Amino acid sequence: MIVTVPHGLCKENYNKKNHLCDLVAKSSGEYIYEGLKKGGIDVVLLIPEVTREAIDMNREISRNTKFRMEVNEAMKDKLILWDIHSYPAMKDPPFTNDVYILDNLKNPKNYSVDLCKRFKDEGFKCEIYVGKNNDITNLAREKGLISLLLEICEDLEKEEREKICSVFVDWVLKKYSGSSHIPSKRRKNL
Ligand SMILES: [Zn+2]
Repeated sequence: MIVTVPHGLCKENYNKKNHLCDLVAKSSGEYIYEGLKKGGIDVVLLIPEVTREAIDMNREISRNTKFRMEVNEAMKDKLILWDIHSYPAMKDPPFTNDVYILDNLKNPKNYSVDLCKRFKDEGFKCEIYVGKNNDITNLAREKGLISLLLEICEDLEKEEREKICSVFVDWVLKKYSGSSHIPSKRRKNL
């Protein structure tokens, strides 16, 4: 598996107001990565050394950067990619939930629906959005990987954010630690 955090690098002057990076995405990505590793998953964590201000690593324009090349390389032999982000809570919709799943389809994949339901069962407010411009997950799906983008609310307490991450890790481990999960398109290419 691959865990990517394309907006994970923050500078000292970055805050909720200017939102020049995803403030809690790196810590969440690391938490998820550690959980998956502990669960016996062969997983890599990829975070760029460049800020979003310099270049948005989740858009087509960044495809030739070192980070995106590393992601591409990892996609050659990994079957699943989780793209981790965070956002500041806003009073009005669309950003009033605890967690969002960005799927790149109008009719989201079954696994996105299943994961959102799982978050709700655990008491979190979750919604699925269409995320057409998310180049990393778009490319991952084009290459036949299972993939979705997770947005975690920055205004939750640390414990709540960690709970979201561990609900996610548990869901992944239950659903994907066997071998039957390998997408058929991908299996043909292996
Ligand atoms: Zn982001």
